[in-house]
Amino acid sequence: MNRSDFAILKEQVHGRPLVYLDNAATSQKPRQVVEAIIEAYSTWNSNIHRGVHHLSQVATAHHEEARKAVAAFINARSSDEIVFTKGTTDSLNALAFSYGEAFVGEGDEIIVSGLEHHSNIVPWQMLCARKKTVLRHIPLREDLTLDLEAFKGMLNERTKLVSVAHVSNVLGIIQPVEEIICLAHEKHIPVCIDGAQSVPHMQVDVQALDCDFLAFSGHKMYGPTGIGVLYGKREWLEKLPPHEGGGEMIEHVRWEGTTYNELPYKFEAGTPNFVGSYALHKAVEYMQSIGWKALESHERELTQYCEAQLSAIPDVHIYAANQPKAGVISFNVYNGQLSTLIHPFDIGTLLDQQGVAVRTGHHCAEPLIDHLGVPGTVRVSFGLYNDKTDVDAFIAALKKAQMMLS
Ligand code: PLP
Repeated sequence: MNRSDFAILKEQVHGRPLVYLDNAATSQKPRQVVEAIIEAYSTWNSNIHRGVHHLSQVATAHHEEARKAVAAFINARSSDEIVFTKGTTDSLNALAFSYGEAFVGEGDEIIVSGLEHHSNIVPWQMLCARKKTVLRHIPLREDLTLDLEAFKGMLNERTKLVSVAHVSNVLGIIQPVEEIICLAHEKHIPVCIDGAQSVPHMQVDVQALDCDFLAFSGHKMYGPTGIGVLYGKREWLEKLPPHEGGGEMIEHVRWEGTTYNELPYKFEAGTPNFVGSYALHKAVEYMQSIGWKALESHERELTQYCEAQLSAIPDVHIYAANQPKAGVISFNVYNGQLSTLIHPFDIGTLLDQQGVAVRTGHHCAEPLIDHLGVPGTVRVSFGLYNDKTDVDAFIAALKKAQMMLS
């Protein structure tokens, strides 16, 4: 992995070399992505789709090439199934609104899981409040895996959609989404996968998974902020109404009413983030140049290395220890003598003073954190540029923090 592509990794924080282990929140950007943004604004910036002039055509071509690249990246059947959004949250809100308008009514049920990010809870709660629908969640077993037996029992004729995270942003556990999709499809219930934490770390093939929808964010996969994707199977997207009006989503507007554009434009109201899509395309190319095999094995090895180091430290509790993870580890540190939890913020602050960036708190997954019965956790999360020197620096800093706080 070429760390030198990521200029920010040469920065110092509090006089120490930066050790960036907060990739689940957002990843750093390679030179290729940063340069693409400068290039776009310096040489071809122009609004897309509606212009006959040269720059507009260049910008349009870049946006549509990006759509094709993203479609190939997740193995969608067609680029018409790729809707550009602002990110995972925006994708899930769009789906919740649109699907809710078309297919959900009073007394119906939506199922999420007990370890979702708020972005895969709140849009469904809002839909439920609007439509008097019931939001249910798959319970967790003691080992923090999903209770699929309970899930089977939850599926019924009132269930209108299942929406689950592929990888937990708190625990890093790779969820059994294949099984969840099979069980739901046996009852003809569509499934949405929140791929915010999977798409950046593992090959996600929407045809092999057979998911009906997939949401993910550009900024977590080395792309820019403000661009994300909602993938939907064509047969679903065709049936869904637009969730926003204006711009390229129309076919004709008359005072009597409006007819809507074809896929995927029906879901892209207003000026799309065409510079973002261009830079996302560069991020996709960057990941492809490394290749999934190298990327996945590098991050798996690093996660296992870190977990082994962490578990050797007394009074450190790792959540979902020894379960297959995609680049995320959550833990807490206890004060052995007093048997009390050292607040994750205190650990995070002392790590930061040593140049180590980790995330602490509820990680936008309060129901899961409540389930764990703690005020929060400390989370380390890896990207393709991290290596064992980062883990060693983090472990040394953690031991120092633990000594200071015990
Ligand atoms: N879903 C999961 C599992 C996440 O980890 C995140 C962000 O951390 C989101 C959704 C929301 O992503 P965004 O803020 O990019 O919309």
